[in-house]
Amino acid sequence: MEKGTLLYEGKAKKLFKTTDPAVVWAEYLNQATALNGLKKDQINGKGELNNQITAYIFDFLNTKEINNHFIKKISSTEQLIQPLEIIPLEVVVRNVAAGSFSKRLGITEGEVLDQPIVEFYYKEDQLDDPMVIDAHINYLGLASDQELAQLRQLALKINQALNELFNSIEIALIDFKVEFGRQKDGSILLADEISPDTCRLWDKKTNEHLDKDIYRRNLGDIVPVYQEVLNRLEKRGK
Ligand code: UDP
Repeated sequence: MEKGTLLYEGKAKKLFKTTDPAVVWAEYLNQATALNGLKKDQINGKGELNNQITAYIFDFLNTKEINNHFIKKISSTEQLIQPLEIIPLEVVVRNVAAGSFSKRLGITEGEVLDQPIVEFYYKEDQLDDPMVIDAHINYLGLASDQELAQLRQLALKINQALNELFNSIEIALIDFKVEFGRQKDGSILLADEISPDTCRLWDKKTNEHLDKDIYRRNLGDIVPVYQEVLNRLEKRGK
């Protein structure tokens, strides 16, 4: 199998066709962005860390019977994935108040939620990815009611599995974002990446940020912090 033409170039990844129509070649980039692309930097080592962390997490989710697009890691910055029709929704799950949730609702960061909250955002850069409710998703034809119910259920199942994983390495999973896609037969699969770029992770002992808030909030260098997350995962074993 060989790498083919560029399919898609995003802020953090490039996707290429391959000679096998059932396989897409993903390359993780060193680019970091925040504030919908207003803040942008090249950070050496970031692509490598997110590729490895995502590979570890998607393998772990497979063991929890949460099917996802990941096939295998093929180099430090590349992995093979299944082709999907991406549903243009960011599905956010929150366990603890932080970020936009705290700002919008005036709730102190760190307040533990009674139960996880699932939110949907419409993936549309020109609109700054607005939060949407079921009726908006329905009106825009982004996903059917059945699919939405499935996305909620899957998001909560992923939350449970990720909580187990991060708890085991002394990290609190504050919130995270996932994306899903449709396979040819219409079934839904977890897609994209799960990494410190897409999760809020706080060290359980010190409450230190081990995630992209370090970059968003100019708190320092993300590379040693992402490396710390990978080290803890690798030390944990499979
Ligand atoms: N998130 C993401 N991509 C986005 C927006 C959010 O991966 O485009 C993740 C973010 O890292 C956090 C969660 O989704 O783990 C919730 O983010 P929030 O809505 O609080 O937005 P933010 O404060 O990051 O703007």
